[in-house]
Amino acid sequence: MMARMRLQPEAIGVGMTSQRVRDRLIERLRQGGGGLPGIRDERVLNAIRTVPRHLFVDEAFATRAYEDTALPIGHGQTISQPWVVARMTEALFEGGAQPKKVLEVGTGSGYQGAILAALGLQVFTVERIGDLLRQARKRFRQLGLDVRSRHDDGRIGWPEEAPFDAIVVTAAAPELVEALSAQLAPGGTLVAPVGGAGGQSLLRLRKDAEGNIARDDLGPVIFVPLLSGLVD
Ligand code: SAH
Repeated sequence: MMARMRLQPEAIGVGMTSQRVRDRLIERLRQGGGGLPGIRDERVLNAIRTVPRHLFVDEAFATRAYEDTALPIGHGQTISQPWVVARMTEALFEGGAQPKKVLEVGTGSGYQGAILAALGLQVFTVERIGDLLRQARKRFRQLGLDVRSRHDDGRIGWPEEAPFDAIVVTAAAPELVEALSAQLAPGGTLVAPVGGAGGQSLLRLRKDAEGNIARDDLGPVIFVPLLSGLVD
């Protein structure tokens, strides 16, 4: 009887969200593998260790929250794969950049925004699907994270708050969105998946002090599409 009772937390998935399971994900991200380069920035790994990803997915998926995989969050959308979140975040800090103010386009579950906030960045995030945004806001509140959010078409950015030291676009478009790179501060970095529905390149744009833009390709990724129009 006692033994059966002790098994219960495992049965409802608590064991699958334990610190041990979470540490295993961190090791996997650090080592890379399966074609993915390892994540080297310890601050980023630490943020991923700290933010409880299982709170950003439906209970039905909580047991899979620390697998390195994208998961459905409703409305045909997904929470990004942890490696992708880590890589995009790490890319903002490379070359000694010290971003303070960041815009995220595509709040989704709120997970990427929470990681950025956990790193001490001032986060502004925009989502076109009202229902997802409401759930994300609840999570930010619950975790005590100071994230500002807005229900809007993120392709226009957040002009009133521009410029941003960093911009993270978490939905794919066939071309870079001009209005977004225009909201990048000198010295700022933008990362965005660019390409068609079948797969994209994760592009990084850097704007130098003179406003010149350099871009590099961080490798293949797959994101849901950047769409127009608002949904309740
Ligand atoms: N960063 C999210 C990933 C969400 S998936 C996370 O960590 O969970 C991409 C999100 O972008 C979806 O929620 C989708 O609704 C949103 N999206 C797509 N087009 C958008 C647009 N034009 N403006 C704002 N959000 C958009």
